Amino acid sequence: MSTFHGHGEDAPLHVPGLDSPQVQAGLASRLADGSFAAFEQTAASVGYCSNPIRLVGSSTTVDTKTGEVVGSFSSEDAPLGALYRRCGNRRDHVCPSCSRLYARDTFELIRAGVQGGKQVPTDVADNPLVFLTLTAPSFGHVHGARVHGGPCRPRRRDDRTRCVHGRPMWCHARHETTDDEVGAPLCSECYRYDAHVIWQWWSPELWRRLTIEVRRALASRLGVAESRLADVASVQYAKVAEYQARGVIHFHALIRLDGPASAGVGSPAPASLDGNDLAQLLRDAVARVAYTAPAARNNDDTTYRLTFGRQVDARTVRAGSRTDAPDGPLTPGQVAGYLAKYATKDATAAAGTDRRSTPHLRRIKDVCRDLHAHARDRETYCRATNPDHVDPYRLLGKWAHALGFRGHFSTKSRRYSITLGALRRARVRWQAIAAESRRTGDPIDTADLEARLLAADDEETTLVVGEWAYAGTGWETPGDAALANAAAARAREYDQWKADHKSA
Ligand SMILES: [Zn+2]
Ligand SMILES: [Zn+2]
Ligand SMILES: [Zn+2]
Repeated sequence: MSTFHGHGEDAPLHVPGLDSPQVQAGLASRLADGSFAAFEQTAASVGYCSNPIRLVGSSTTVDTKTGEVVGSFSSEDAPLGALYRRCGNRRDHVCPSCSRLYARDTFELIRAGVQGGKQVPTDVADNPLVFLTLTAPSFGHVHGARVHGGPCRPRRRDDRTRCVHGRPMWCHARHETTDDEVGAPLCSECYRYDAHVIWQWWSPELWRRLTIEVRRALASRLGVAESRLADVASVQYAKVAEYQARGVIHFHALIRLDGPASAGVGSPAPASLDGNDLAQLLRDAVARVAYTAPAARNNDDTTYRLTFGRQVDARTVRAGSRTDAPDGPLTPGQVAGYLAKYATKDATAAAGTDRRSTPHLRRIKDVCRDLHAHARDRETYCRATNPDHVDPYRLLGKWAHALGFRGHFSTKSRRYSITLGALRRARVRWQAIAAESRRTGDPIDTADLEARLLAADDEETTLVVGEWAYAGTGWETPGDAALANAAAARAREYDQWKADHKSA
């Protein structure tokens, strides 16, 4: 295996902004006052987070059984005189480091729900599992990058129609996924922006209705009353929302059929249903889901009957047969990887590039704010028709930055797998155990280490009592920030290099 070229003296760290006087001054003062090593240690401890949170204060760790003080920590003893914590932001353009950690945790918890591990029994691997993609309907023709670089919307010469605004309804360009046109409508006047925003606003409601519909269908299929379904089977899922180039979200979900939820995560599923049956049941259920949303403008008499898009992809996942054929079976690792990747994308990355703002995406945000601005009128109207009725769109403006999507980007049912919180707690516990071992020189006790790390909070035997005050966010100088970001970028390159060499 070749070595990573990003290390060593012939590959100096690329520090963006090194020509800025503030960055230079910051770095020079770290070198002059001898605090560079302290900074380096601190930056490494937060994984080169872009915007760490600084805290000052102290804490004491107490054994809850004996009341004995087993350790204490004060920020005065920390290398830079403050306790630095990761910002924990999910979005890649806000903090690449924390975003990668979030993706890794999401990957771990999704994979544990697919094949077991992390205290989830490996029996989950025997249960039917489907990878479901739910699309949004069309709100008008948009430009798109085609697979194999084909033309956008080709039409024969005798089949070229224009819209009522005189714009061509064809396009022979071969777009790259990063082109500004991709996702933008062929005619912005024809594009149904209100319907787009209204659909996005209610998409969490469509998902909720789907979960009800699936339980209903499953009960009927298993021949039990809906109220008794929990005694026989349960549906567990992990789902993420992903923005498409046209600024609308799709849902991707892993759906697993378990036995009774009371029998624990991954209890044996009823034998009468396999993965293919579950996939068919899901397709049928998706087709039945609909919600009639109220109009968002007083003078709008459109009936907004919302459904998922017609393109429903429900694939049975089988373990151990890796293939890259588009219709072939998926491996648990592949699906966990897809979901984790989608979970860190956000609205500004909708078209595949970061911090992108196209006229189309701006227009969607404007429509969110515009519909929100009608809220006062609507409120009066809503109260007149029904005294308890509160305007359902009153918070739409608040969600304009997310293009009107108010749901969570990544959610899971309670008994799908472990939680992100448990993984984060395990990391903190691991750091404490490792630090203690370094301090005492004793080797780490590996007996049921994973069980101890992932134990629930109420099983903890120590209690940390502390008093902390918020001292600020971010690195102290632009020089520190530039170095942290450069180191995070190098770490990312290294991970990518490792991944490339593993798959090669
Ligand atoms: Zn961060
Ligand atoms: Zn086009
Ligand atoms: Zn038009």
